[in-house]
Amino acid sequence: MSLGEFDFIRRHLHTAPAEGVLLGIGDDAALLRPRAGVDYCVSTDMLLAGRHFFGDEPPADIAHKVLAVNLSDMAAMGAQPRYLLLSAALPQLDEAWLVPFCRQLQAMAAEHGATLVGGDTTRGDYVFNITIIGELPAGQALRRSGAQAGDEIWVSGQLGLAAAGLQQRLGRLRLPENVAARCVQALQRPQPRLALGRALLPLAHAAMDVSDGLAQDLGHILQASAVGADLDLPSLPTLPALRRLLPEQTLYPLLLAGGDDYELLFTAAAENRPAILASASASGTPVCCIGRIRAESGLCCRQADGSVWPLERQGYDHFD
Ligand code: ADP
Ligand code: MG
Repeated sequence: MSLGEFDFIRRHLHTAPAEGVLLGIGDDAALLRPRAGVDYCVSTDMLLAGRHFFGDEPPADIAHKVLAVNLSDMAAMGAQPRYLLLSAALPQLDEAWLVPFCRQLQAMAAEHGATLVGGDTTRGDYVFNITIIGELPAGQALRRSGAQAGDEIWVSGQLGLAAAGLQQRLGRLRLPENVAARCVQALQRPQPRLALGRALLPLAHAAMDVSDGLAQDLGHILQASAVGADLDLPSLPTLPALRRLLPEQTLYPLLLAGGDDYELLFTAAAENRPAILASASASGTPVCCIGRIRAESGLCCRQADGSVWPLERQGYDHFD
């Protein structure tokens, strides 16, 4: 059934009262009251049909992804997500589409302690933009600029699955069905690493989430911190089946420049290794040490025999 804009907002977007929300959806703006001793951490991310997701994907998958990519930015800063604003362009207000979309969005927001407090709705090709506000203990945020020579470089989860899933969907890879399903799952349902991000606050020197390719994103940390890095290619975590099935010339570009991983990339003093491993296991998030920060600038990716891998593409650039 199709419905009007205001019925849509009233029926599917209204949320229960939440701590810190003086006024939620329904007025010209929301009112939030900050708690003492916290910094607000604010980010926004926009997803377009045909560019960030396929328009024919299940609405719950689209909702998952648009929220997950925003939650991932909170994880990267070590923040606790609190408030969301959703701006949506929709070709029509079709309840069969909107109900699973809103249900997934609301459930996932609640699961992570966040409340929808506002947004905007207009007619157009599918575009979703979430603005997210999180909380951090004042002065504690994880930035890209804190990496120090001698730090170990860590990444959570596994890399390259989402990129392989995309290549499969585009018909450029032919993976066995079970492997393809796992990779498409990683593409459509990235898992934001919020618990790990918060646990890293006292442990990591620098952090970010890998969204546009490991090499490019690590490059941002290196530039912000005025350091360089050596990466150990054989230790990059990925799906064992991908390592087995794909030649290095196919695999390494997926791991280094694939994009859409939404894993945490962070650097920390070597002495924090036991605490990092303990936090990773407490939060149920696998982590892997993949290299070291060095004083000399540049990024060097080494293969098993010590030779340097020639990086052709660093990652994803929307304007390439
Ligand atoms: P205004 O015209 O004053 O900008 P709107 O009529 O666009 O307000 O929105 C009415 C209320 O519904 C506002 O509180 C707004 O934040 C909320 N809202 C509109 N669209 C969305 C959306 N996609 N997600 C969440 N809240 C929304
Ligand atoms: Mg108004």
